[in-house]
Amino acid sequence: MKKTIPANPKSMIHILVLTTLIFLSAISNAQQNWAIAIHGGAGVMSRERMSPERQQEYTRHLDRALAIGDSILRAGGSATDAVVLVVAYLEDCPLFNAGKGAVFTSQGTIELDASIMEGKSRNAGAIAGVTDIRNPIKAVRLVMDKSEHVMLSGKGASAFAREQGLDMVKNRYFFTDERYESLKQLQKRERQRSQQDKHGTVGCVALDLQGNLCAGTSTGGMMNKKYGRIGDSPVIGAGTWADNQTCAVSCTGHGEYFIRLTVARDVAAHMEYKGMDLAGAGNAVLDKLTAMGGTGGFIAIDRNGNIAMPFNTSGMFRGFSRSDGDKEIAIFAE
Ligand code: ASP
Repeated sequence: MKKTIPANPKSMIHILVLTTLIFLSAISNAQQNWAIAIHGGAGVMSRERMSPERQQEYTRHLDRALAIGDSILRAGGSATDAVVLVVAYLEDCPLFNAGKGAVFTSQGTIELDASIMEGKSRNAGAIAGVTDIRNPIKAVRLVMDKSEHVMLSGKGASAFAREQGLDMVKNRYFFTDERYESLKQLQKRERQRSQQDKHGTVGCVALDLQGNLCAGTSTGGMMNKKYGRIGDSPVIGAGTWADNQTCAVSCTGHGEYFIRLTVARDVAAHMEYKGMDLAGAGNAVLDKLTAMGGTGGFIAIDRNGNIAMPFNTSGMFRGFSRSDGDKEIAIFAE
């Protein structure tokens, strides 16, 4: 005789709740994507003036940087880890205007700016005008996580980084002959405000499997800068922004315009207040920048992994990679 076990209504509810939770988490994991975009600066650049070997070199380093971010995000790592390690790689690469290889000030020294912002908490960290922190992006993460401030500058920022145990270097570490030669040429041309060789700032925006966004930017600023000039890159809202509700943005270009237009935050504001999608918001803000006479561009990513990389110069070193297998690296305006 078959014995039937009457269902216990309490355990039935437990099983139902558990099954629903497993189902929901399976759905949300299946829908959750990761995505990453990087830039290595926008400016005047042309295929004719850049040798194929040079183009390959840039492409190789952008590809490696993307691979670092890819592997972190694919394994379920945080957007913040991806941004920090990708930007640190680009800072160590002498081709870009950040960390080693940064542009010179009018005094023949190097002064670095950087910032980072997390979209979940809108916590942020920034440093400006530092001369001896090997990887400014690591310092800004510590400002964000370990200090009660958002922005530190100069000697104070260095003291903080030293206390936190970061790699400190002599200013000479950042020098490259190529950038020094560019400074001399620019100074020879005196007040002629050439756009050439100003590019090279680096940035990264990422979306992780948990749905969190992060943006980070690092730069040596504008070549031949004077009087302790600080650009948009360390200014939260101007050069960097992240907010899980809308998007994460990292900018590059003529910083004074980006500050005056709060470009990074403005992209998010167009989405938040006007209900625009990422591409529409990006184009609207780029149009405002162009109308004001500002040059440059930005990379932006939204919470669904959509990516926009608009710019109004003849080129911007850029690339992106996504969990759906989509990937691209490009230099010139196509
Ligand atoms: N935005 C940076 C600055 O103005 C420079 C750049 O992105 O090329 O300092």
